[in-house]
Amino acid sequence: MNLPGMEGRDDAVLPFAVEALDVRGRAVRLGPAIDAIIARHGYPDAVARVIGEAAALTALLGSSLKFEGRFQLQTKTDGPIDLLVVDYDAPDRLRAFARFDAERVAAAGASARPGDLLGHGHLALTIDQGPEMSSYQGVVPLEGQGLEEAAHQYFRQSEQIPTRVRLAVAEQFGGGAHGYRAGGLMVQFLPTSPDRMRQADLDPGDAPAGHVARDDPEDDAWVEARSLVDTVEDHELIDPGVASERLLYRLFHERGVRVFEAQDLREACRCSRERIIAMMRRFSADDRAAMVGDDGRIGVTCEFCSRRYTLEAAEVEAEVASGSA
Ligand SMILES: [Zn+2]
Repeated sequence: MNLPGMEGRDDAVLPFAVEALDVRGRAVRLGPAIDAIIARHGYPDAVARVIGEAAALTALLGSSLKFEGRFQLQTKTDGPIDLLVVDYDAPDRLRAFARFDAERVAAAGASARPGDLLGHGHLALTIDQGPEMSSYQGVVPLEGQGLEEAAHQYFRQSEQIPTRVRLAVAEQFGGGAHGYRAGGLMVQFLPTSPDRMRQADLDPGDAPAGHVARDDPEDDAWVEARSLVDTVEDHELIDPGVASERLLYRLFHERGVRVFEAQDLREACRCSRERIIAMMRRFSADDRAAMVGDDGRIGVTCEFCSRRYTLEAAEVEAEVASGSA
């Protein structure tokens, strides 16, 4: 395998395959993109870490889209961060925001884990392929377990693909600059024979009486790949001096790893005046009238990018009525 430079490539997803283990995966590194999202909103550190993990996970999942479409990760929970949304718009745009209670975040303390800050509720993963195609949504309960474990549950239950995900976030200082970085690694076991994909059952918990947990052994190739991924340390996912290629080589060089063309990402919102008008069309005339300020204008702030739109109420009504836009 070639090692194309020792420097990590930021804001990019690197697909790879370990054919000897029937494994495919992706590695992601976010630098300026995640730092811009966090800085734009001025999120406190604890919130920044959760949104960094969510953005890395979204990039890992969304970058598999082969079409023009959108992948969305959304959590709705009862924790200090009660709403978190990350959008991946194919082929390369990422945006995110979190809604949180600053007092509860502060009270949770510096040692709070992401799972504690999200609390209980659910994680929804939605693929929207445009008006011509049906959308797909998978939902996983969040019960304090955090996003890595929720991703494992999603793939186990909804996709039935043995999957391992690692996520890491850090605020880095040095060289007079500082910024947030996030990284992730996802590995999936995709043998040609589905028979080899069996997974041990989850703890049956409150399963009905008579439920018998299967104890089929997992496939040796998957056990090996999974065990290797479990050795990945957080700094290997985010260190600017460790390229994704180098991490993959460390993990899989004995089996041979093939990397494919990296895909660049960028932080970009898709809000526009046209989309605001389209949104206004979904409200009643009375609701729109209630939005108009004393100056005769409607102010709308995009939650993702904080861009402020100020629209003349009369123009909004004319455009809503015209159905153009
Ligand atoms: Zn925006």
